[in-house]
Amino acid sequence: MISFSGNPLDRASERRGDPAWLAAQRAAGLFLPFWQMKPLVAGMPPRAAFLAAGAVDAADRTCVFLGLDGTQPLFAVDLGAGDTAPLAGSPLPDGGEFRDMRAAAFVLPDRDTAIAGQAKALLDWNARHRFCPNCGTLTEMKDGGYRRACPHCGAEHFPRTDPVVIMLPIHDGACLVGHNTRFAGRLFSAFAGFVEPGETVEEAVRRELREEVNLEVGAVRYHASQPWPFPSSLMIGCYADALGRDFAIDGHEIGEARWLTKEETRARLDGSVIDETMVLPVSIAIAHHLIKDWASA
Ligand SMILES: [Zn+2]
Repeated sequence: MISFSGNPLDRASERRGDPAWLAAQRAAGLFLPFWQMKPLVAGMPPRAAFLAAGAVDAADRTCVFLGLDGTQPLFAVDLGAGDTAPLAGSPLPDGGEFRDMRAAAFVLPDRDTAIAGQAKALLDWNARHRFCPNCGTLTEMKDGGYRRACPHCGAEHFPRTDPVVIMLPIHDGACLVGHNTRFAGRLFSAFAGFVEPGETVEEAVRRELREEVNLEVGAVRYHASQPWPFPSSLMIGCYADALGRDFAIDGHEIGEARWLTKEETRARLDGSVIDETMVLPVSIAIAHHLIKDWASA
């Protein structure tokens, strides 16, 4: 399972626009609190900690509708970005703490990671889009957080999802991985970049590889995608058939790149080779799956 995918909730998109229906759901709802955009995680094994409305003062805070878990309505509530966790001192569930979303993704069950990721992306969008980009007026949240309406100019605004291509160039039994100068340590990964206006996925893949490693590729094949709530990306994972092995790093974004054979890749993934000069991506990243699925095929 790719982290942040597999969300099991019924988002009830045809009903959440009805304020009376939404109010009834909210009265029966459970709420996942976020503080500084970190979800509350509690219990052993750890789970996303949904609390009753009273425990999180839901009436006075921004809440977004996540969906129905069976018949149970689930919401997320934004406790803001203050210096101290707002629930401190009140009875938190067993061992509860606000965890960084990436760290939480390592310990939560897949379904909880997907739900918390949806919640984070939606809360974050609402927090950043309080004012109308068209006229600057304070907007009103609608449809449980999936729309904001401007009472002045009538413009409607919808949550962003930003497409990012992430691609592994392959050539004759080898793949090219790169060390981005922003990466910590000796991480080597697939290449990635935002899709620009007026560009197809395939064109974005070819442009990014030309810019970052001056590598020419032919066929581009879609493999899998991943919601990535940092803050609102959709990672579109592809393989790109390189026309040759020659490349030249740009020296700015990419500091180093190397071809790895399938055998070298498998040995690093299964730990039979420890290479201190190269660390491959961790399991919550789609890059891990792109590399692993190719190497094990
Ligand atoms: Zn407006």
